[in-house]
Amino acid sequence: MKQDIKSMTLQELTEALRAMGQPAFRGRQVFTWLHRGAPSFEAMTDLPKALRSRLDEEFRITVPKVARKQRSARDGTVKYLWELSDGNCVETVLMHYRHGNTVCISSEVGCPMGCRFCASTLGGLVRRLAPSELLDQVLFTGLDAGEEISNVVLMGIGEPLDNFDNVLRFLELVNSPDGLNIGMRHISLSTCGLADRIDALAEHRLQLTLSVSLHAPDDESRSAIMPVNRRYPVDMLLAACRRYFEKTGRRVTFEYTMIDGVSDREEQAQLLASKLRGLAAHVNLIPLNRVAESPLRPSSRPAVARFQQILEAHGIPATVRRSLGGDIDASCGQLRRRYLREEPDPQAKEDPQWKHGD
Ligand code: SAH
Repeated sequence: MKQDIKSMTLQELTEALRAMGQPAFRGRQVFTWLHRGAPSFEAMTDLPKALRSRLDEEFRITVPKVARKQRSARDGTVKYLWELSDGNCVETVLMHYRHGNTVCISSEVGCPMGCRFCASTLGGLVRRLAPSELLDQVLFTGLDAGEEISNVVLMGIGEPLDNFDNVLRFLELVNSPDGLNIGMRHISLSTCGLADRIDALAEHRLQLTLSVSLHAPDDESRSAIMPVNRRYPVDMLLAACRRYFEKTGRRVTFEYTMIDGVSDREEQAQLLASKLRGLAAHVNLIPLNRVAESPLRPSSRPAVARFQQILEAHGIPATVRRSLGGDIDASCGQLRRRYLREEPDPQAKEDPQWKHGD
């Protein structure tokens, strides 16, 4: 198997080319081609012919194919289903915000975490993505859409901290001034709460935004919807978040899915507020997106408003997440599920009360 060249850092590439007897500038030259989406070594026209064929013998270049593409008529959100070189598929979503174009990427094919409300985890984990495959989602989404990408969120299929080393390497690649040059402050990473990996990430002192999927403030409710809570209970997780904040100086964001009768009780809002005190945290309240395979239902609008009110009364800033792409299965694994089931006609299923977002 040839080596995956786009997963290499600039330094590694420079060393590899130097070992082939090439001048020092070659590494950067090839790196730049790769990060502009060159599909082959043949396309790197300013490299000597002999070098191009030598590279082709030793290395391969990942180029995902568009398997499906859906565009929301409502807000222009585009959802891509990318087919990888081994035939597996992952989802990427392109969203347009005032602060710039944001790409939401997947970190794994499937997911091992088993959250009860999430479509991504229904078939378990198939495999983790390589750094190149993480980068390609940003790169080729931008190229296909013909748009500049300014923000990246690791919030698609998979658990980024379960693919720790490859995600870290991806962050270095996407942040590279010779590549896409996306600033760390324009990157968010979302985790279901692997507390020990949050500590490991803190050691790198990156300026990215850590987003923690909390979804319930008490162990009983959280364990019922998120199996990961049995390994890392709420207080252990929040202690890791506190250390993360102290070490990096970056405020942690909490994702909180509003599920009818499961996570939206008033006493849960009170408990959440008391547990987040002193964390300088921000809470994103997200009305549950219905997943066909799950009986869980989104909270009512009044229940969400009441929950938000209680948090704010306790000095915890909370926003209700605007829902984009509701008409195109743009949440967590739903397009891939449909594709795996080979349903040819993707049509939206959505609770009408959330139709236009906030
Ligand atoms: N594994 C990571 C990132 C992927 S999930 C994590 O758990 O954070 C991205 C976010 O979408 C998480 O907050 C997840 O809990 C949430 N999510 C998953 N399914 C959802 C659904 N049906 N409705 C609303 N949010 C959902």
